[in-house]
Amino acid sequence: MATKRDYYEILGVDKKASADDIKSAYRKLAMQYHPDKNKSPDAEEKFKEISEAYAVLSDQSKRQQYDQFGHAGIDQRYSQEDIFRGVDFEDLFRDIGMGGMGGRGRGGGGIFDIFFGGGGGGRREVPSRGSDLLYELAINLEDAAKGKAVELEVPRTENCDVCHGSGARPGTSPKTCSTCNGSGQVNRTQNTPFGRFMTTSTCGTCHGTGTIIDSPCMTCHGSGTVQKRRKIEVKIPPGVDTGSRLRVSGEGEAGGKGGPTGDLYVEINVRPHNIFTRNENDLIMEATISFTQAALGDEIIVPTLDGKAEMKVPPGTQSGHVFRLKGKGMPGLHYSGKGDQLVKIKVEIPTKLTDRQKELLREFAQIGGEKTRSKSIFEKVRDHI
Ligand SMILES: [Zn+2]
Ligand SMILES: [Zn+2]
Repeated sequence: MATKRDYYEILGVDKKASADDIKSAYRKLAMQYHPDKNKSPDAEEKFKEISEAYAVLSDQSKRQQYDQFGHAGIDQRYSQEDIFRGVDFEDLFRDIGMGGMGGRGRGGGGIFDIFFGGGGGGRREVPSRGSDLLYELAINLEDAAKGKAVELEVPRTENCDVCHGSGARPGTSPKTCSTCNGSGQVNRTQNTPFGRFMTTSTCGTCHGTGTIIDSPCMTCHGSGTVQKRRKIEVKIPPGVDTGSRLRVSGEGEAGGKGGPTGDLYVEINVRPHNIFTRNENDLIMEATISFTQAALGDEIIVPTLDGKAEMKVPPGTQSGHVFRLKGKGMPGLHYSGKGDQLVKIKVEIPTKLTDRQKELLREFAQIGGEKTRSKSIFEKVRDHI
């Protein structure tokens, strides 16, 4: 290799230059010689030279080594790849609007592919949070109103008890992967006009874990996790409705590589009730009364969620009238207090009358001034049903 120029000289800075001075000097020169901008034949070589100078002088220990021992100190200690390792060129060029992410997109072995290994890959498997689980729970309206403790049986992934998640048979332990020496990454050499560069990708032997299991745990077959059906008690608070979601912290799936456990979500589905329909926290029901009860008034018994309740029907109550029983609805999920129960009155018209009943009703109508000669009013109503 030809004799190298002094790194400080290449960047045009003096030996006492600060990190910022070095950075801005490099940026200026990089803009000038960036192969995307400068098409002269020696631009690439020049760009490589200033990049190498920057890579050394921007790293404190490399700079120290260079100051003390010159090029020999660097060349003996660092491979060409190592010189560039740890330099965030991508970040540098993003700032000056060149290369960086855009540079990668151009593809076809651009200069940044050499520095950055073409992107992607190379990330070691790190502890990951376990997945959240969703459990759909159907309950009846009474339980939704009063709340309930339920025991759910949740199928989920848990850490293996036998190997405590390591995946190795008890008494053995995972071995360091010999392909990547435990780093989980492998370096691939690329030959380029600038020399050889390394790119990094996930180790195919250990899939990035850095370890190999020779004798897998019999229980989990080396995965470190097992499928279990776990019984979990969940308290359903009063007032839940269809679509309410309860979070049970830490009862989801086991995390990977010692990561935290996910959460369990319980989604409520309230089954339809045979008497009540729900509108927010109000409960609506229909009560059928006879036409004499409607006309004369009465006290009737209506069902509520707390049992039976007496309700006054005043004389002259019309069909369709709605009575409100205060506080007999659903409790609020997020506030204290309750909704109401709404009782919608349906007046039933009798369809089967005895002769005596007919006679009395005709008399009733006559007193009220109605004409009932052709068809009785009740027969007309019946015809319309
Ligand atoms: Zn196991
Ligand atoms: Zn490996």
